[in-house]
Amino acid sequence: MSHVMNTYARLPVAFSHGNGSRVTDTEGKTYLDGLSGIAVNTLGHNHPALVAAIASQAARLLHTSNLYRMPQQERLADKLTEISGMDEVFFCNSGCEANEAAIKLARFYGHQRGVDNPAIIVMEHSFHGRTLATLSATGSRKVQAGFEPLVAGFVRVPFNDLDAVRAIGERNKNVVAVMLEFVQGEGGIFVADAKYLRGVRGLCDENAWLMICDEVQCGMGRTGTWFGFQQTGIRPDIATLAKGLAGGVPIGACLAAGKAAGLFVPGNHGSTFGGNQLATAAALATLNVVEEENLLANAAEVGEIIRNGLTQALADVPGVVGVRGLGLIIGIELDRPCGDLVRLGLDAGLLINVTAERVVRLLPALNFSADEGRELAERLAALIRTFLSS
Ligand SMILES: *Cc1c(COP(=O)(O)O)cnc(C)c1O
Repeated sequence: MSHVMNTYARLPVAFSHGNGSRVTDTEGKTYLDGLSGIAVNTLGHNHPALVAAIASQAARLLHTSNLYRMPQQERLADKLTEISGMDEVFFCNSGCEANEAAIKLARFYGHQRGVDNPAIIVMEHSFHGRTLATLSATGSRKVQAGFEPLVAGFVRVPFNDLDAVRAIGERNKNVVAVMLEFVQGEGGIFVADAKYLRGVRGLCDENAWLMICDEVQCGMGRTGTWFGFQQTGIRPDIATLAKGLAGGVPIGACLAAGKAAGLFVPGNHGSTFGGNQLATAAALATLNVVEEENLLANAAEVGEIIRNGLTQALADVPGVVGVRGLGLIIGIELDRPCGDLVRLGLDAGLLINVTAERVVRLLPALNFSADEGRELAERLAALIRTFLSS
């Protein structure tokens, strides 16, 4: 009996090492990694530049504390604001913490404007994390059930429905922010319409609300631009990042711009580990490799290869509802629950995931090659055919 608390339905496999997007288990079997640790291993496994940066940082300093200046954390903030067009960054260690910072910032902003009970508009099928505030913001009863009372101050609307956002705003004068994912990841790979996103931006401007983009899963270059919101030419007031930011080392970031910037002062928020030397060294190295190896363009190109490959191979297959996504965040919706595909994938040497019960989810590393993309599409299509015909 394991002494690890029973919070995951783990698959019966353990890995010993990896190289690029090939991972080997403890029995010596090799897998093609179509998931990269749920969008975490941005550069795949064992990238030499990331390994070197982590090793050399570990030999100097791992951590000193935010009681002191950290020039490297400042450099990472410079870099993130440069590529995002945002103004400033708070560092933490995970996606839910980045969203906690965003929620606190939005409430703080509300109080400063005289709103005593600030509310945030959130979306159906969203996912923002497992802490109390972020599970309350999340649009999934499964995530919330058993943990009531939920944190107050969230109003839910359907995703991609601008009228619903407008209608809440007209009725509820406590609204101070709208929070959404550009691509809903856990919710089943639903991409926000460009028109909808620009519409939300417009409503936020008209009403002086903050627009919060949770880019924890779809950010860091995955859609083919550094951030999903850049696909539509808007800039949010707050954006959150985590998963792929440091290529596998835990880190989170809450970015603020315009009227959301400059609000917090010492004492309002903090994190012991947030933005320490090890994490920021890994993040700087990861961002550097994404630029040097031209991985934004690669994500867009290889993503298209995978989606086209799957669309063609599955065109005449009854049971396949559709293939969707953008860049290297891809979903294949089936007409039935398909969680079993994950285990069938393991048997076949493929690491994939199923979310929202019926959606096969792919989140390969940004340096996935075109050949790996074709291979993944081909092998996965064969697996889905077999699954649907059995
Ligand atoms: C994974 C995820 C989170 C939560 O991140 P953790 O690091 O697990 O806390 C939040 N938002 C989105 C969109 C995510 O995909």
